Amino acid sequence: MHGNIVAGNVEDICLPEGSNTLPRSIVASAFLAVTCFAMVFMAACSLDAKPEPTPEEPAAPHVDSGSGMAFIEPFDDPTEPLPMARATIRRGESEPDIVVNPSSRLVLVNKERNLPPDYAPEDLVRPNIPFPFEGELPRMMMRSEAAAAIEELVTAAGEEGLVIFGSSGYRSYETQRAIFESNVQRRGETEANRFSARPGQSEHQTGLAMDVTSPDVGYGLVQSFGDTAEGIWIEENAHEFGFIVRYPRDSEHITGYAYEPWHLRYVGCDHAKIIRDTSLTFEEYMQER
Ligand SMILES: [Zn+2]
Repeated sequence: MHGNIVAGNVEDICLPEGSNTLPRSIVASAFLAVTCFAMVFMAACSLDAKPEPTPEEPAAPHVDSGSGMAFIEPFDDPTEPLPMARATIRRGESEPDIVVNPSSRLVLVNKERNLPPDYAPEDLVRPNIPFPFEGELPRMMMRSEAAAAIEELVTAAGEEGLVIFGSSGYRSYETQRAIFESNVQRRGETEANRFSARPGQSEHQTGLAMDVTSPDVGYGLVQSFGDTAEGIWIEENAHEFGFIVRYPRDSEHITGYAYEPWHLRYVGCDHAKIIRDTSLTFEEYMQER
């Protein structure tokens, strides 16, 4: 897999075993078709609004010649293997790899797979959910598809008498850097690394994550949220809206993070249901793709 140079400063691009080719053709009609699907079917999974795959027109990986980075379009076919989703750009022995699909709703971001520092989603909107603070802040934003889904989730919970607030959504690379450095100052680097992401390693930079909370826990981001009625409902129902609890209990050795019942990650309904049914972490699920 050596020699697939996609940017001037890139040393290598590695694909998972068995992936011998890196498809690069742009199928404009397929992109248009799946984009239309996505725009029409933004409702919750529970409404049976699942887009049908279009096997004759798969969503093709898209090479953005402007930045030199390759992207998977965000509305990929859930039934297709995703070699690009596991591909990374290798920076060197001591540096984490960079993902090549930052705009995919299946992008896997963790301590080994970082987002490009200059990646920012282009379709950030503020979901119409309550926040425990005022203003129009970047942290209230999510990508449009995820924002529609979190609105559905909060509304459905409300219909059962549960009160869910948003706390923290989109976060830029620079904001994450400031947060991590502040946490290192307060708690030391080893401890900070358990609960706080380094810049480039936060899912919040994707615009697909939202930390949620409730009055019951004083609007905090605490593990006891998982034992509240809201936390239990999220655990049992988030997948119906395309979300996973990204950092489950007892999975720190796989995900790299302690249990975070408040951190919801949008992956789309089909994937979220499988992940929920199989009790896999997102790392394990993507390993099988
Ligand atoms: Zn979070």
